[in-house]
Amino acid sequence: MDKHTRKEFKARALNEIENLRQEIPRLKEQLKPVAPDNAIGRLSRMDTIVNQSVVEVQLGKARTRLLRLEEAVRRAEDDPDFGLCEDCGEPIPLARLMAMPETALCVHCAE
Ligand SMILES: [Zn+2]
Repeated sequence: MDKHTRKEFKARALNEIENLRQEIPRLKEQLKPVAPDNAIGRLSRMDTIVNQSVVEVQLGKARTRLLRLEEAVRRAEDDPDFGLCEDCGEPIPLARLMAMPETALCVHCAE
């Protein structure tokens, strides 16, 4: 991966890391149990439960994504082979790296 692409990848990844670090506490906030003295009806309580399971999934995804991006940024700094396919040694396109920062294979070799 050339210097320019590496820099571009890091800039984009760090930007997304920043967004995720703000999003995760917001999601956690929504997972707080609703106090029973909050006068909400049975229906809205059900809504809350359904909502919370959606939020839980989002939170899990956001955490995984954050870890993978952080790891990729570390590798982009330390590993001279970062961004090169482990199988064929060809550069992995930036768009693919952004979509799957944990990937070590180009599209062809991944298939
Ligand atoms: Zn390959």
